[in-house]
Amino acid sequence: MDYIMHIVVVGSGIVGSSVAYECAKAGARVTIFDSGRLAGGASAVSFAWTNATTKTPRSYFALNVAGMRAHLELKRDFGDVPWFVQTGSLEWRTTAPGLSQQREEFKQLQEWGYAVEWIDENDLARIEPDIDVSAVGGAPVAYYPEEGWVDPVLYSASLLRKASARWNTIVRLNQPVAAVETHNGQVKGVRTAPGELVAADVVINCTGSFSDRALGSVPAVPMASTIGVLAFTLPMGLTLRRQFHADDLDVRPDGAGRLMIHKVSVDQTLSEAKQLQPGGDEATTLLEAARRVVPALNSGSIEAIRTTVRPVPRDGYTCAGPMPDVAGYYAVVTHSGVTLAPFLGRAMADEIIRGKMRQELETFRPARFFAPDSGFGRRKAANAVPA
Ligand SMILES: Cc1cc2nc3c(=O)[nH]c(=O)nc-3n(C[C@H](O)[C@H](O)[C@H](O)COP(=O)(O)OP(=O)(O)OC[C@H]3O[C@@H](n4cnc5c(N)ncnc54)[C@H](O)[C@@H]3O)c2cc1C
Repeated sequence: MDYIMHIVVVGSGIVGSSVAYECAKAGARVTIFDSGRLAGGASAVSFAWTNATTKTPRSYFALNVAGMRAHLELKRDFGDVPWFVQTGSLEWRTTAPGLSQQREEFKQLQEWGYAVEWIDENDLARIEPDIDVSAVGGAPVAYYPEEGWVDPVLYSASLLRKASARWNTIVRLNQPVAAVETHNGQVKGVRTAPGELVAADVVINCTGSFSDRALGSVPAVPMASTIGVLAFTLPMGLTLRRQFHADDLDVRPDGAGRLMIHKVSVDQTLSEAKQLQPGGDEATTLLEAARRVVPALNSGSIEAIRTTVRPVPRDGYTCAGPMPDVAGYYAVVTHSGVTLAPFLGRAMADEIIRGKMRQELETFRPARFFAPDSGFGRRKAANAVPA
């Protein structure tokens, strides 16, 4: 096979897997590294809701809509996308400030052409009989029919398996990259932790929350990552098909009858990712909140609770494109990475291999962190490579 160039992707989460897949499809020889298991970082502990709600300004909203569309476009490549469940989502607010904010967001989303409609309690009871409508308290329910969720690990594994089978992409797991090697301001490749030099024309850093860690002397993206906590119930005799978002509570099916439960306020109690117990305070808080809406959970319990670091660039927005100082060195890191990954993968392949710049990314470039007046300073990180 003749390849246009050799690209090394560092990080096999949903973002790195998407970038690797699209670059391989566009004609590059691709090698992807991960210091751990495939997609075992934030992508393995994600609510994974595909959406563009509460995404402002307009450019960021449009980017997320492009991500949602790109998920559908993958059907063209795969025929079937068993990692994507597009049953829509439900949202209600029970406080006066929450309701007024929801109304404003609803209006804005409609003006921007996003699919959203109001449904009433009767509709809710009919489509989701597991939800106790009294918990909604007569509030209007917004229904977003085009939203869904993804199984990020299955997604990543499927894309990389196809890239390996069709374009000989090499997947190297449990092999940390220690440094990006450069010469005269040009990428030369990567050096693995054991010291092997792997030559490359382009290196793309997709290390998620590790994006601010030093990979040799190349610049790093400043991050303000946060902690995420998810609880998973035992398999329950439920038929819930849609995720719901009610005040400070997010719940969705997670396969085989399990529900996944999330509360932002529980995330905020932790300053670091640590092992939590299924019978611990955090799990109890999550289960009790979900029980108030889904009474069948009264006879259920939490089977697992997981924490991870959620990758968030320092200003909260997506960071994708060439890094300063080093030709051939790129970074792609973002929150909402599940929604955005297929679009970002395609965009990187367009820009790096097809030479077609993507306007959608114009305001989301790494350069914004490195401009003299950015307030971020010129950043070279100094932390160690993750184990
Ligand atoms: C609780 C929670 C809920 C979320 N909910 C949503 C949601 O509803 N919708 C949404 O769109 N997004 C959501 N997100 C965010 C989303 O999950 C992330 O944006 C996305 O998973 C990031 O993917 P990634 O590939 O960039 O990072 P990761 O999945 O973290 O992958 C990075 C990989 O890089 C590897 N790595 C790091 N350093 C090295 C190195 N030196 N060498 C080799 N490999 C390395 C790591 O091992 C890891 O596998 C949520 C996140 C959390 C935590």
